Amino acid sequence: MDFLDSPEEAEYRAGLRAWLERLTAEHDGPGMSTRDWHRTLYDAGYIGQTWTVEEGGKGLPPTYDVILTQEVARADAPSVPANPNYLGRTIFKFGTEEQKAKFLEPTLNGDIQWCQGFSEPGAGSDLASMRTRAELVGDEWVINGQKLWTSAAHESDWCFLLARSEPDAPRHKGISVFLVDMKTPGVTVRPIRTTDGHEHTCETFWDDVRIPAGNILGRRGGGWPIAMWALQFERGPADLGIVAGLLKGLHKLDAYAREHELDASADVRRAIAKAYVDIRVLDLNSVRQLSNRVAGHAPGSDGPVAKLLWAIGAQSLGHAWLDALGPLALTGADDGHAVSEYFYSRPSSVYGGSAQIQRNLLAQRFLGMPRT
Ligand SMILES: Cc1cc2nc3c(=O)[nH]c(=O)nc-3n(C[C@H](O)[C@H](O)[C@H](O)COP(=O)(O)OP(=O)(O)OC[C@H]3O[C@@H](n4cnc5c(N)ncnc54)[C@H](O)[C@@H]3O)c2cc1C
Repeated sequence: MDFLDSPEEAEYRAGLRAWLERLTAEHDGPGMSTRDWHRTLYDAGYIGQTWTVEEGGKGLPPTYDVILTQEVARADAPSVPANPNYLGRTIFKFGTEEQKAKFLEPTLNGDIQWCQGFSEPGAGSDLASMRTRAELVGDEWVINGQKLWTSAAHESDWCFLLARSEPDAPRHKGISVFLVDMKTPGVTVRPIRTTDGHEHTCETFWDDVRIPAGNILGRRGGGWPIAMWALQFERGPADLGIVAGLLKGLHKLDAYAREHELDASADVRRAIAKAYVDIRVLDLNSVRQLSNRVAGHAPGSDGPVAKLLWAIGAQSLGHAWLDALGPLALTGADDGHAVSEYFYSRPSSVYGGSAQIQRNLLAQRFLGMPRT
């Protein structure tokens, strides 16, 4: 998206690129832990740069966060942490003064890493059917239940947890948001090894977990609108570095295919070309989405369209890796990279809202089609 840079953005990009080059030379590549990387970005002034001045940020337009994710991907550094923009701003909007004082700065500087405990067995797409309970006993909330797919829970300090606190209220009105220290007795985290061979996500179990009454965010039973506000703020694939990461992955595949002369096959060239087209469509849609945002337009159908295109682009790239290597992929000739890329791409049409749900949203909310 470099072609859209304003003179100020071009200057920012050049400064950032130079900083990343220096850093890479000093640290011998992207070998930092998530927390150290977060802190390094924060110390250099890149975290919270698009927060408003009132929120304690620099008030830069959203394009700056996109440039940040692009340059970080280009430098092959770990991705830019998403939680400061997403959960940090949610705490800023809904938190008490005490909560803001306690959580905002560490969320920005990386001292607190968060996970998101929304989904449960049987409550993913239909999130409002969640059963994890929170009961106020004296001056403590007592939480019992199970969450599923709590990404990075094994590396997180705190959880942004949804639980049912008003069992007699209608389902959407009985849910509250709780801020829970993951070290609290009764929290058990079990990492899930997914088919790509990695442990990105976890099951979490909550057995008589007692937290202070003040760790509720917003009012009792007011969690649903807070969660929806936060999800809307989860931002698009460009801000999250998805587009930049996929483009980088595509260049890697292209280079690999050329080096190993796999591109002699028309099928391989076709698969790579398809992935290129799908990722470019996502890229261009992200530019459009960003332009709308900068112009102050309401998000509208942008979210579901972006999520669908994101999954299509990611899965095309995963397929292209397998198509390029063919049976070689199973021999481990590439250290298992192609198979891992393929399996890593599969859940992209599930997490963050499944493809079917995005299509339902587009059909019902934006095309006015009836529910069946
Ligand atoms: C890798 C990964 C990471 C995740 N990280 C997190 C996280 O950090 N925190 C968190 O809270 N959650 C997380 N999730 C959970 C994710 O949000 C849910 O998996 C997702 O919302 C789908 O819910 P489900 O798994 O319960 O599937 P279900 O809702 O049971 O859906 C199963 C299938 O049925 C389809 N379906 C369901 N309802 C409808 C309908 N009404 N119309 C048409 N089709 C329908 C779905 O599209 C899907 O294909 C993660 C998931 C994955 C796979």
